[in-house]
Amino acid sequence: MQVTQGVYFIQGQDEFIPDSHVYVLGEPGSGDLTLIDAGLMGKGGYKLERLEAIGMDPKGFKRIIMTHCHLDHIGCLPELLSEMDQAELWVHESEAEALEKGDERVVYGMDMFKGMCQAQYGLKDGVFRFEVQRKLRDGDRVSLGQEEWEVLHIPGHSPGSIALYHAMHKILIPGDTLYADYAIGRFDLFGASGPQLKESLMRLAELEVEILLPGHNRIMKGVPKGYAAQVASQWAPYLS
Ligand SMILES: [Zn+2]
Ligand SMILES: [Zn+2]
Repeated sequence: MQVTQGVYFIQGQDEFIPDSHVYVLGEPGSGDLTLIDAGLMGKGGYKLERLEAIGMDPKGFKRIIMTHCHLDHIGCLPELLSEMDQAELWVHESEAEALEKGDERVVYGMDMFKGMCQAQYGLKDGVFRFEVQRKLRDGDRVSLGQEEWEVLHIPGHSPGSIALYHAMHKILIPGDTLYADYAIGRFDLFGASGPQLKESLMRLAELEVEILLPGHNRIMKGVPKGYAAQVASQWAPYLS
């Protein structure tokens, strides 16, 4: 589904664990496509079908950018990379190193969840070990399909959470930090921090946003002015 010119949305198919939404930046046939997040294990098939339906060849993807590396976003990465083996992986530097070492604490978030998921999906230790071609930093300006996006490091939900922001078109892709309906991401998993999340929300509140494309739940077009600021102030008492 097209959100706006050069921005496409594939809705996650949640099971007992959520499957994150996936966004594509770029135009079909351009050969310069960017995938934002991958989704949950076993959820590669329908994504590849949707991409094909809108005329996007997996070989046209130059990069996959992770908003962060939780299992519901990265679980599907091996499936997608097997069709997009030319694509680079871009991750914020504070989660990239762990990913390269096969340190899966951020991926699973907590030991209990790790055991449960490994049993449920037959996953072995070290499945989520990847080489990261670009380690993103706060303030990076990245050219994606001829559009310039800004990288904001917004820790709190996870240590290396990022948002992608298109200032001219007022589009924000905040991962699991900010959702529609005044919701925010959880802040109890490995490497999470309430106070950091509060600061990150306050930072997002400074941006002009018309289109909000979160990692789960509904997307928002025509975001009311001051939306992120309201969310930040509503949650502030719980985040310090
Ligand atoms: Zn998450
Ligand atoms: Zn998520």
